[in-house]
Amino acid sequence: MTDEREARRAWFEQTCVELHQRFGPLDAGEPASYIPELADVDPDRFAIAAMTIQGERIGVGDVDHEFTIQSISKLLMYGLALETHGRERVLEHVGVAPTGEAFNAIELDDETNRAPNPMVNAGAIAITDLVVGADVGERVEQVRSMYERYLGRKPTIDHDVWASERQTGNRNRAIAYLMLSRGIVEDRVEETLDLYFAQCSVLVTADDLALIGATIANHGISPLTGERVVAREVTRDMLTVALTCGMYDYAGEWAFSVGIPAKSGVGGGILAMLPGVGGMATFSPRLDDIGNSVRGLRVFEELSQRFDMHLFDPDRPWRR
Ligand code: GLU
Repeated sequence: MTDEREARRAWFEQTCVELHQRFGPLDAGEPASYIPELADVDPDRFAIAAMTIQGERIGVGDVDHEFTIQSISKLLMYGLALETHGRERVLEHVGVAPTGEAFNAIELDDETNRAPNPMVNAGAIAITDLVVGADVGERVEQVRSMYERYLGRKPTIDHDVWASERQTGNRNRAIAYLMLSRGIVEDRVEETLDLYFAQCSVLVTADDLALIGATIANHGISPLTGERVVAREVTRDMLTVALTCGMYDYAGEWAFSVGIPAKSGVGGGILAMLPGVGGMATFSPRLDDIGNSVRGLRVFEELSQRFDMHLFDPDRPWRR
C-alpha cells in the first residue's frame, strides 16, 4: 500500500471509530416489532464495517454479530433474476419506478401491469417468482448457491424468523395473490412466498454486508475469492435501482444527502456501495418510522460528507 493510501485508510478507520462512539449513545428508534424475533433483539448492538475492492477490511463494534438480511436480499435477488433471464424479461414483470409508497403497499402499475420496482415487496416477490427450478428444492438451491457465492460460505437461515414471517406474512400473501390474478406471477404463490420469506431470513453480519457491497462495487468479482459472483453488466442495474429505490420511502432524501447506492432492511442493516471503490455496512436495529436504521443513517450522512462520497460531488476524490 502506498503511504497516501495507508494514510487515507487510517483516516477512514479513525472516523468510523469516532462515529461509532458518537452515535452509540443515540437511542432514538425501536427494533422492528412485526414479529417477536425482531422485537426481541438487543437494540444497542452497533457495527460499522467496510471493505475495499482490493479486499482491505475495516470494522468497528459488533461486526460479527448475526442478524437477518431482510430486504437487503431484494437487491441480490434482482441481480440473480437479471442474470438468469436478462433485462427484457425481468422488465416485463417488474419496473424501475420509485413509488413514494410504503415498501409493503398493495400497489401495482395498472398501465403496464407490473410491480413498480424490485425493492418494494410486490416487485421483490415477483422477482422471487422468477427463480427457476422444477420444484421448490431446486429453487431453494438456486438462492442458496447465490448467497454462497457472495458470502464465500454456506448461508444460514434463522428458522424462527422464517417461521414467523410465514405465519404473519398475510399482507405479502395478499400482494402475491393480486399479482397472480393479474398474471404477473405464476401459479405457485405459496411456494414463492416461502422462498421469499427464506431469502429474508438469511443471517449475515456487518462484515458480510461490506463484502457483498465490495463485490457489487467491484462490478461482480468477489474481493474475497476472486470469483465472479454476478455478471458485470448486471451490477450496473443493481446499483441504479439501489440508488433510486433502495432506502424505502427515504430514497430521494438519501440520494440527495448521501448520494451512493444503498439498500436497507428491517433487521437493522444498511448496505452501501461506492462503485469502483468498495462496500460499507452498518448494523443497528433501532429503526425510524420509515424502516431505516437511525444510527446507520447518521453514520452514512457523516461519512459521505467527510469523504466527499456523493456520486455527483464535483470534488469527489475517489474515482479511479
Ligand atoms: N420480510 C419482510 C417483509 O417482507 C422484509 C421487510 C424489510 O426488510 O423491508 O415484510
